[in-house]
Amino acid sequence: MAGIAAAHRLQSSASSHFSLTILEASDRIGGRICSRELGGETVELGATWIHGIDGNPIFEIASRIGAMDGADQPWEQQDGFLHDELVRTEGGEDMEDSIVGRVADFFNDLLHEMKDERNFRALPYRSVGDFLRSRFRSFLADQQSAAQSADRPWGDVELQQAEAIFRNKEHMERLITAADSLSDLDMAGYQEYTEFNGEHRTVAKGYSTVVRELSRVLPDGAIQFRKKVKRIRWNQEVPTSLYPVTIFCEDGSMEQADHVILTVSLGVLKLAAKVTVSEKKERGVVNAANDALTDTGFFDPPLPEWKLDPIAKLGFGVVNKVFAETEPANGTVHKALRFIFKPENEEQERETLAATASAGGCSPLLRKSHHIYPINKKSHVLVTWITGREALLSESQTEDDLVKEVTGTLETFSPYPVVGIIQFLHQPLNLRTAFCNCCLLERRHTGDTTRPSTVLTLPVFVKQVGCFSTMH
Ligand SMILES: Cc1cc2nc3c(=O)[nH]c(=O)nc-3n(C[C@H](O)[C@H](O)[C@H](O)COP(=O)(O)OP(=O)(O)OC[C@H]3O[C@@H](n4cnc5c(N)ncnc54)[C@H](O)[C@@H]3O)c2cc1C
Repeated sequence: MAGIAAAHRLQSSASSHFSLTILEASDRIGGRICSRELGGETVELGATWIHGIDGNPIFEIASRIGAMDGADQPWEQQDGFLHDELVRTEGGEDMEDSIVGRVADFFNDLLHEMKDERNFRALPYRSVGDFLRSRFRSFLADQQSAAQSADRPWGDVELQQAEAIFRNKEHMERLITAADSLSDLDMAGYQEYTEFNGEHRTVAKGYSTVVRELSRVLPDGAIQFRKKVKRIRWNQEVPTSLYPVTIFCEDGSMEQADHVILTVSLGVLKLAAKVTVSEKKERGVVNAANDALTDTGFFDPPLPEWKLDPIAKLGFGVVNKVFAETEPANGTVHKALRFIFKPENEEQERETLAATASAGGCSPLLRKSHHIYPINKKSHVLVTWITGREALLSESQTEDDLVKEVTGTLETFSPYPVVGIIQFLHQPLNLRTAFCNCCLLERRHTGDTTRPSTVLTLPVFVKQVGCFSTMH
């Protein structure tokens, strides 16, 4: 989307000044926007929601081309969020409404508190996870002391239920932020993410229609598919041609250019610049902002330090969606099911995940999923989202294994009708994805107030001629 949007802007405003070429590694445009069909319905493998429609350019384009309504087939979330859901434990018990409501309200209040920068300045917490957990401990203590004088005290059972519900809410937040662990999510980074005002909507004719519309202004042949860039030579001391930048593709071809805009995901960029925070963590240098970074040769010469630094500091996470077209539940419709898993400590979580293929029963891959739900109120297509390490692991599973994982998990939440899966769709948009707003902890430690995401968009100037700029 970023690349096509940039090309659209250039082509629409200044096409007489240059000739434009887009090098795309895959055989389609859209990247992490990809609308498909499953069981006669439109499903979104990637971007699904327009997060706030007021003044949102995506909404404006989708409305102008008539993509927001009038689709031939049902689509994801066409009738809004599903509120009628079962909140059920492993083992099939329904949760006490009053506890679910109380913990959910408390959690939502915490999210509001975190979004307010004035609160943030006063808060000593390093990460979103630290803040949530610390407040939750106080909440539980308050409930216990209040219970001592109440008619109906919160005993161990209620406290365990509250813990399980709180974890489920944390899993929702992992899904939204793509963070593997909320402890990796920097408070300041969290606040940088803002949404447009207004309703959140999905695109009736598919999110991909917006990308296609933007690409319509491009001349034939401007987009070259299956052109995976492997090296960008820039700032050449002794230019070998009139052009300051040469781009080499994996298929052996090359392009020359005055200007380059690079719109790959942060994950791809990290690989290219060979800067992974986990590597830095392993080497115990996560706080050393100026640590020497290894370079893979993708950028030749390597990017300057001021550009590498934000690439290192920004984090990203992985999110995948798993769809299953199912048999109708008792001839009617499926309900959304919120997964309330038995709480596990970190060590147990690691052990569970290490037991990759589940021998039936609840799948380790889904143990941090928030819920599974029909994509619209009448749909027989169910979807669940997987985040973090689990999402990465899911990418190596076969379709048969995943069917077992999903049905095994649903069985443990019985009496939810165990669905007969007719067709399955799990096509990770394997772009080292980032539906992300994750900003790792480093920034707080160094006291640096510059937004890494802003620095990332600044151009890097090529000697004398032109400029080379990375975006996203
Ligand atoms: C499951 C999921 C759900 C999401 N839901 C939402 C949502 O509801 N709402 C929302 O706003 N956002 C959502 N997002 C995020 C949204 O999809 C992305 O933020 C957005 O699509 C990113 O667009 P992009 O152009 O920056 O990157 P990408 O879509 O990743 O595009 C990068 C392009 O670069 C290409 N490329 C990569 N490497 C090379 C190379 N070496 N050479 C040439 N080409 C290369 C890729 O093939 C790709 O086409 C979701 C993402 C996922 C994965």
